[in-house]
Amino acid sequence: MALVTSLARETQPERQPDGNSQSSAEQSSADRYSRQVLFRGIGAEGQRKLAAARVAIVGCGATGSALAGLLARAGVGTLRIIDRDYVEPSNLQRQSLFDEADAAESLPKAIAAARKIAAFNSQIVIEPKVDDLVPANIEALLQGIELILDGTDNFETRYLINDYAVDRSRPWIYSAAVGSYGLTLNVVPAQTACLACIFPDSPRGMVETCETSGILNSAVNLVASIAATEALKLLVGGDAETHMRRTLLSFDVWTNEHSEISAAKPRPDCRACGERDFVHLAGEGRPHITLCGRNSVQIHERERPIDFAEMELRLQPHGVVRHNDFVLKFWHDPYEMTLFPDGRAIIKGTTDTAVARSLYARYVGS
Ligand SMILES: [Zn+2]
Repeated sequence: MALVTSLARETQPERQPDGNSQSSAEQSSADRYSRQVLFRGIGAEGQRKLAAARVAIVGCGATGSALAGLLARAGVGTLRIIDRDYVEPSNLQRQSLFDEADAAESLPKAIAAARKIAAFNSQIVIEPKVDDLVPANIEALLQGIELILDGTDNFETRYLINDYAVDRSRPWIYSAAVGSYGLTLNVVPAQTACLACIFPDSPRGMVETCETSGILNSAVNLVASIAATEALKLLVGGDAETHMRRTLLSFDVWTNEHSEISAAKPRPDCRACGERDFVHLAGEGRPHITLCGRNSVQIHERERPIDFAEMELRLQPHGVVRHNDFVLKFWHDPYEMTLFPDGRAIIKGTTDTAVARSLYARYVGS
């Protein structure tokens, strides 16, 4: 919370000592959302519900940025942004909350997103969490959240979210974009199909990723716009919720091909929502080290608090090293290691987990 306050303070103008701050805040809030309140599907009551809502966005890359930007401007009262990664120049083509300064600083995406949002809407609460959502921390990271939005880039995390959401009867919205097409599905446990009803297992072998197929920013924005609108319907509830889409929708913005698969009902023999077997939530067989795209490996350490100043001194003889409050970067040709304060690391320049583990052991600790 201290971070949220300081982020807001950086960007808010000085308050006027006129004693009317509350009424002027209410006035400015009414003015800010006036065009949205005029829309019949939302109205004044819907806007109040949005202000009271608590939404988590898991993953703040391209889709997560677009979702967070739309919902923050729409006045969703609390947005918790969970992301494990940092901003890089190759993100700027599509990740709308970040700029060149964020990439130059290698700022964690959650922090950069919170700063950017505070600059255009200081009236809502942003809770940035620089973390990788895993079975061990999902309870804490999604505490008090009523709707979960998917901004991730991998099925492992999506199945984890699906297990958690079905187990706790909490709605979530799946969104994905790659190449020129996007996919999205609303999951309302016990009412609609869940992710595992439609895809019982993670697709293997043929999975396209942004690293192999590229991505159009317009495909991202289309899918995020649809998912953000579905989120508004669920948060406003009542009549708005009756308009919720009950299909898995896919749309290709390049070929204009689109399709919808019914997701109106849960599948009775579904592993997750039928048999209530939450293997992903149990975290069985979860590796300590994982590949995380773009020629890099992540070391899932989280109980090794790092003193960045001390670590910088230790690493200086071995390569180029610099740090800010949030990340430490260490270049040791041909590798680039990004270290987070809890000991987690992303090592770029290899897909060999043994090489990554040995670099980490040598320079950080085994
Ligand atoms: Zn299911």
